[in-house]
Amino acid sequence: MLPARVRQLCELLGRLPGVGEKTAQRYALHLATGDAAAAQALGEALCALASTVGRCERCGNIAEADAQGLVCAVCRDSRRDGALLCVVARIQDLLSIERSGAYRGYYFVLGRLLSPLEGVTAGDLPLEALRARVRDPDRSVREVLVATPPSVDGEATALLLAQDLRPLGVIITRLASGVPHGGDLEFADPVTMGRAIAGRRGLE
Ligand SMILES: [Zn+2]
Repeated sequence: MLPARVRQLCELLGRLPGVGEKTAQRYALHLATGDAAAAQALGEALCALASTVGRCERCGNIAEADAQGLVCAVCRDSRRDGALLCVVARIQDLLSIERSGAYRGYYFVLGRLLSPLEGVTAGDLPLEALRARVRDPDRSVREVLVATPPSVDGEATALLLAQDLRPLGVIITRLASGVPHGGDLEFADPVTMGRAIAGRRGLE
């Protein structure tokens, strides 16, 4: 009963995280019948995304391409401490740590956590790229702060990373407790996150 283009839009919107069928339909109807200029601007922004924005080729953070390539704002910031590398699961976690203002090193975004229940094994994680990043002679990384969430999968991933990186002769640390157990780092408030970073401890 809906026009084909609106049905297609519903289908595409429904693939977004947290958007169910009803919400997708509400968005699609709003876009199709509301402010045409706003809908067009949204469409243009989405088209531009595909051609200019992607994951940073050094750390996996979100980045906008230019003549230097696809390199994020953090990796471009030469005032940061190259001895510190923070490993996070997702870009949202990186943003949460940045909001705390308590960390001045660089990052590496894994993209996912080890999850035996969901069939994600060590082979699915970018461990080779992480080792290459830690060994990068231009950076001389001395400490790797493993900032995976305090959940079962986050802890399993932290242990795997510690085993994998220990032979490289770097100090491996973990966020102090304080971030709610099982909770998402994304929702940790900046003060709590700042304390968890300042109180980080060695990972055995
Ligand atoms: Zn980067």
